[in-house]
Amino acid sequence: MKKTAVLFLLAIGFTGIISCAAQQPQDESKNPYYKPSDNSKLNVSNAEWKKILAPKVYDIMREKGTEIANTGPYVHNPKKGIYHCAACGHILFSSDTKFDSGTGWPSFYQPYNSNSVLQAKDNSLGMERDEVVCARCGGHLGHVFDDGPRPTGLRYCMNGYALHFEEK
Ligand SMILES: [Zn+2]
Repeated sequence: MKKTAVLFLLAIGFTGIISCAAQQPQDESKNPYYKPSDNSKLNVSNAEWKKILAPKVYDIMREKGTEIANTGPYVHNPKKGIYHCAACGHILFSSDTKFDSGTGWPSFYQPYNSNSVLQAKDNSLGMERDEVVCARCGGHLGHVFDDGPRPTGLRYCMNGYALHFEEK
């Protein structure tokens, strides 16, 4: 009976650790490429990224995965600040352009500046979409659609795990 109680408490503790990890899936101090002030382009192999990025972040950013809606961080983050690339720290979006799209993914109507992201055509899954990648490391972030709010009419639909938020 006692043993069961201990195991139960351990399980609760473990769940707590996991849910904290969902907000901050990896430790930036252990990532030599995470440099918000460095705009030089990166050309890092997937094998190298795999050693650095958390598995979920790697799957999205290097294998073009998509997190299940409402499972990633920052969907309802009300705080003011800057969203960086989770892989390289590049400045991508400001909370000032974040809006509630109701999709379950963090959404913005424009990138931080014209050097933040790049777009590419994506015809996977039988859909024609515009892929959005980090302009510094080329990491996959999500897609952009033209059903966003004013003033741009764009909706940058991002994976929360591809972002790293720094509060202002
Ligand atoms: Zn990046």
